[in-house]
Amino acid sequence: MRKPFVVANWKMHKSVDEALDFIRSLQGRLPDADLVECGVAANFLALYPMLQEVKGQPLEIISQNAYAEYEGAYTGEVSPKALADAGINYALLGHIERRKLFNETDDLVNRKVIATLQAGMTPIICTDETMIQKEFSGSVHYVFEQLINVLRGVSFDQVKNIIISYEPSWAVGVGQHANPNLAEEGCRLIRQTIADSYSYEVADKIRILYGGSVNPENIKQIMNKPDIDGVLIGRASLDTDNFLSMINTVV
Ligand code: PEP
Repeated sequence: MRKPFVVANWKMHKSVDEALDFIRSLQGRLPDADLVECGVAANFLALYPMLQEVKGQPLEIISQNAYAEYEGAYTGEVSPKALADAGINYALLGHIERRKLFNETDDLVNRKVIATLQAGMTPIICTDETMIQKEFSGSVHYVFEQLINVLRGVSFDQVKNIIISYEPSWAVGVGQHANPNLAEEGCRLIRQTIADSYSYEVADKIRILYGGSVNPENIKQIMNKPDIDGVLIGRASLDTDNFLSMINTVV
């Protein structure tokens, strides 16, 4: 059984104080960690104080990024080593905003995946709209390229420990209705790609999340899909009650 995973992606929202208030307001209200895994991806500045505040609560504090080298002379970057040493278990990598606004390529994301694994963390690898491209004929053509590129050099043993998120550009941050059937189609395709590149056993174990306009109204329909093991939530995760209500839907 793949445990559901509900991840809030706060992007560049919330100051350190606001992040700590959010954690305090969750105190004693999160479901048992055996039922669902929950996490919040916050900005770098807030991560360490959040880790101190969260102690004992079933909530993962997640990095929104990590640099592509284990450590070294890379002014202004944050190393996977420093994140892992601080107690961070997960890093989001290759989010569509990083690709679009900061020109992150498959190659860079691949190096980040390798460095993050080297530090003993679990990458949550974001894949986006290049998974689905409409051909001029109008039929849907699936492209596996991005996933294959970012997994280059990831071994059989390592791939079991990664998480993949499918975030089509038509649904991320735009307030569009998230279409559960298309979401399932993308996630199913990712699982098939893992099965073809590694094995069916690994593909069956790996957790695949969907991200894009998930909210308290549509989360149930999305999570009912067989290949969707969790969600990555942007805007709707900024409010504690919304976040809790979405988590409780999944349990
Ligand atoms: C995201 O940015 O990862 C995301 C899923 O955003 P939203 O839920 O706001 O579409």
